[in-house]
Amino acid sequence: MTQLRQRGYTIGFVPTMGALHEGHLSLIRRARKENRVVAVSIFVNPLQFGPHEDFTHYPRNLMCDRSLLAKEKVDYLFIPHPSGLYPKGFQTLVEVPSLARPLCGRFRPGHFRGVATVVAKLFNLAKPHRAYFGSKDYQQAVIVQRLAWDLNFDVKIRILPAVRDSDGLALSSRNTYLSPVQRKRALAIPRSLTWAKVEIQRGNRDIQYLRRGILFRLRSHLDRIDYVEFLEPKTLQAVRSIQSPLLIAIAGWVGKTRLIDNAIIKIQKQKGKS
Ligand code: AMP
Repeated sequence: MTQLRQRGYTIGFVPTMGALHEGHLSLIRRARKENRVVAVSIFVNPLQFGPHEDFTHYPRNLMCDRSLLAKEKVDYLFIPHPSGLYPKGFQTLVEVPSLARPLCGRFRPGHFRGVATVVAKLFNLAKPHRAYFGSKDYQQAVIVQRLAWDLNFDVKIRILPAVRDSDGLALSSRNTYLSPVQRKRALAIPRSLTWAKVEIQRGNRDIQYLRRGILFRLRSHLDRIDYVEFLEPKTLQAVRSIQSPLLIAIAGWVGKTRLIDNAIIKIQKQKGKS
């Protein structure tokens, strides 16, 4: 990669955990448009999974992934082995404490430390000019943005919109865990986000009402709700009043599958208010 950089080639990098779908491909296609060279990594990173999480069951489908990447004319595919990235004696970890504290950080201790550590390592190996992340995992994307800035990585972080199925469910490798009935129940998540967005666009500024409305729409479909949060998108601080832009983030469970989704809502100033 150093030689490619020296030759003046721009490198676009898309880190993934594989089981690729159109969400990943949207990042790869943007990378293809903006760079001379496109590199993708597939690595199910043990460091970002908790002891009781789905590391061993995480969907892996390398044959299918390889053929999708070939169709997209990806130039480099990294498939590191865990012992290559984390050899015996490995101990350096990357923490982005305040951005990692809320939302999924509360429910998945150590998760974002694992993400930040592997992303920093992959940036050092791939030496990209631009790296592409999905806003589906919004907290992860802002953490990566912060770490790239804080650690002086010479890389631009691009955050692209979530790709959804026609019924609104955000694509995720973990959706393959869902039975057809569970998948229908999971639709409560994007539907409740759309409901809140429409309410806000109609002028509703009552966070308690909006939160209750979302919870009401989720409760009968999800088995557990981890959080429904209203936050400032850059700092991930909870907001008490509706400001623009606004991040609404949801995590919940259908059966044994944990799902996350979010919406970033730009709010028009209400007439007559300064
Ligand atoms: P993963 O393989 O789940 O670690 O995801 C790799 C990258 O793809 C991350 O930057 C994700 O945010 C992004 N991604 C996952 N799902 C989607 C989606 N539905 N739309 C856009 N990007 C996505």
